[in-house]
Amino acid sequence: MCQTQTTPRALVGLSNLGNTCFMNSVLQCLVNTAPLSAYFVADEYSGELNRSSKSWQLVDDYASLAKDMWRTAGNTHTSINPSALKMQISRWARQFSGYEQHDSQELLRFLLDGLQEGLMRPKREPPWPYDDKDFEKRAIAEQSRRMWENYLARNNSQITDIFCGQLRSRVTCATCKRESNCYDPFMDLSLPIPKKFQGLSKWRSSAQECKLQDCLEQFVDEEKLEGNEMYYCSRCKKHQVAIKEMKIFRCPLVLVLHLKRFDKRSSSRSKLNASVRFPTASLELAPYMSSDSPDLSTSTFDLYGETSLYENEEDDGRFQGFRNIQALWTEGIISLIVEISMTVCGTASTTRT
Ligand SMILES: [Zn+2]
Repeated sequence: MCQTQTTPRALVGLSNLGNTCFMNSVLQCLVNTAPLSAYFVADEYSGELNRSSKSWQLVDDYASLAKDMWRTAGNTHTSINPSALKMQISRWARQFSGYEQHDSQELLRFLLDGLQEGLMRPKREPPWPYDDKDFEKRAIAEQSRRMWENYLARNNSQITDIFCGQLRSRVTCATCKRESNCYDPFMDLSLPIPKKFQGLSKWRSSAQECKLQDCLEQFVDEEKLEGNEMYYCSRCKKHQVAIKEMKIFRCPLVLVLHLKRFDKRSSSRSKLNASVRFPTASLELAPYMSSDSPDLSTSTFDLYGETSLYENEEDDGRFQGFRNIQALWTEGIISLIVEISMTVCGTASTTRT
């Protein structure tokens, strides 16, 4: 697409410090996140940097790297050394010290949390009471707004401005139909791979092909709470079978999606190798959103970055390296990172399904 040729991007290599391509891959995605980089490269962040926070140095080193990458962008004869930032990451998260491969989603979470902490704006008193007895009677949009404003009073930064969205989960008592709602902020969505696609390493027909939308569909699918998971209904005054449903209520500016390629219930940590096809432009989130959402008209996302693990089939599934695609860079600021990760250590063999 022509936009990819005309829109400047921070296209410059990062040196591999020894199995750190999982880190480089995540950094490439983050540094190419337009609203985040605008904030760092224009030095806006320094006015908000909280130097008494333990992660201020992490923020500063991230900012230096982002500036270096944007300054050097397009120079194919050089690469940038991210060792200062790597040192800060290892200092605060021992699991990332050393030079082995790690889970890229875990690192992305750590980085966003660290940037959030170092750039947090002054906390305010939450404007709405948490023990509001009439909460359940209020309109859904009003419930969501109050929970959102309370959250932002305590967690306000450029990071929440860009990456934070809100989920609504609704539990309905199967007996009396009483509904109760709760609202949770999210920085990324971890999507399950539907059962019918699990165990498929390659698709053979389009019927077997798993699409990203199938994973989103599964994410918002209704779940029956029964047996040990029965729900205490305050109207029936006892545990009852209930239906739980989760929907997106507020869209972030930049959406991070993560595919759950490991089955938590399985003790062997076997990886789900099913191919998942995702659109590079115009992913519609509206079908997975609550009908009361204020963001239904701004819920189309274009892909600009993806990180996934390369594996070599002939090499017994051994780790080969992370790849990173700066697939599309649109004029709009709403973008999407699709992040597909797995945990590997060095060149240890992974178990295949
Ligand atoms: Zn009930």
